[in-house]
Amino acid sequence: MVVVGAGLGGLLVASEVARRGGRPLVLEAGPVPGGVAATVRDEDYLLEPAAGSFLLPHAHLTPILESVGASVVPAEAVAQRRFVYDRGELFELAGPAALATRLVSRRGKLHLLREPWVGSPATITDESLRSFLQRRLGPEAGRMGATLMAHGVFAGDPDQLSARAAFPAIVALEDAAGSLVRGALARRRARSKDVPRARAHTALNGMDGLAAELAASLGDGFRPDWPVDSVQRDGNEWIVSGRGEERTPAVIVALAPTEAARIMPGPFSPLLNEAHAAPVAVVGLGGPEADMPVPSGFGALTGPDAGLRILGLLFESSYAPRRAPVGHRLLKGIYGGDADPAVLALTDDDLVALAIEEAGRILGVPFQPSWTRVIRHAPGIPQYHVGHSAWLDRLDQVAAEFPGLHLAGWGYRGMGVTSLAQHAAALAERVLAAP
Ligand SMILES: Cc1cc2nc3c(=O)[nH]c(=O)nc-3n(C[C@H](O)[C@H](O)[C@H](O)COP(=O)(O)OP(=O)(O)OC[C@H]3O[C@@H](n4cnc5c(N)ncnc54)[C@H](O)[C@@H]3O)c2cc1C
Repeated sequence: MVVVGAGLGGLLVASEVARRGGRPLVLEAGPVPGGVAATVRDEDYLLEPAAGSFLLPHAHLTPILESVGASVVPAEAVAQRRFVYDRGELFELAGPAALATRLVSRRGKLHLLREPWVGSPATITDESLRSFLQRRLGPEAGRMGATLMAHGVFAGDPDQLSARAAFPAIVALEDAAGSLVRGALARRRARSKDVPRARAHTALNGMDGLAAELAASLGDGFRPDWPVDSVQRDGNEWIVSGRGEERTPAVIVALAPTEAARIMPGPFSPLLNEAHAAPVAVVGLGGPEADMPVPSGFGALTGPDAGLRILGLLFESSYAPRRAPVGHRLLKGIYGGDADPAVLALTDDDLVALAIEEAGRILGVPFQPSWTRVIRHAPGIPQYHVGHSAWLDRLDQVAAEFPGLHLAGWGYRGMGVTSLAQHAAALAERVLAAP
């Protein structure tokens, strides 16, 4: 089988196929694997422009990482400390203690406590993240939760993101138990005591290092500098054309939907071009400890009334090893997305100045970075808007006419690395089971 694209999505599918005994060939347009997760290394800073951490153990990601001997390490224990900045204040959220913060008013908390008794709709609907969480948690906590989740994962707009498509595990709690609280309790009871609680992990040698490990495990099954121009059917086979021609019974195209549209058979293109992604900018701020007083913790998200344009500020050097030189610190800010597309009109210098000012306001201390970097992603982060699940169904209908041809990557069924691994397992099973 052939996988087109060696981002983390394509590499995880290929590694899972190989782990199950298959022989995948990965064709990548660029000179190195990793796609958007192209780690920046400069003056001993290590800045992750995309995926920077992921939760392990995970039923599907852990076996893949173990099979290639990947260098992943647990994040520092301080990663459990997470903050929210809103209305000029920084609130620490630590599990149930979050209920004690003033992030949500007393009235809002009372509404939260009623969640187990809130009824569910008779029919399953595709509603926005904000509508879903406000229905379950009340207007105040729902608005807060929806903003934080939308900012933190998609840089998205909580009024446009689909709760079901963007956060399926959370909506599944309501589906299973009629309540998020009761569903979460049931899930916790069902969890095997032998499986440790999932914790944040990082790639010790950067995400591009992890991508290189996954690619290396494929041996000559990874071919860089091999842009694919088209994927066409020929009888029971597929012809993958680009720098040469490969014939294969199965192809997995692991590209962003609008990029996939350029090489897939005609009937896919209009549908794939309907996909929406939102550009984002990642701003790295580094410097000596004295000038960069980064606190201990994972980071801070901004709430709906923060009055800032930054969506999230990650305390990189605090929770992840090797992200800054000895005696130095690194912060990472995220801007843009559907949450605030206009901010991306700023120049790099202006974005850096804004990030320095806003980090100072969030943490209440001045920052004077000596090392800065701006990385812009376009087309950017896929946005699973209301209607995304119906779009996936329509794609499946078209795909049914093209046996052996599949789509993978963050544009479809989950935006994080663990979701990519879960989808990889499902795809590997289908491809290897095909006659
Ligand atoms: C700011 C940001 C923060 C993030 N944080 C996290 C996080 O903390 N945790 C987490 O789990 N995830 C995170 N993610 C998401 C994660 O980085 C992505 O899910 C993942 O990197 C996407 O991989 P992919 O393979 O689907 O796509 P891509 O990385 O886009 O890979 C596609 C690949 O296909 C290649 N290609 C394109 N066209 C062709 C062609 N015609 N022929 C051959 N090859 C081609 C490209 O060169 C590229 O290598 C974050 C993303 C962003 C942007």
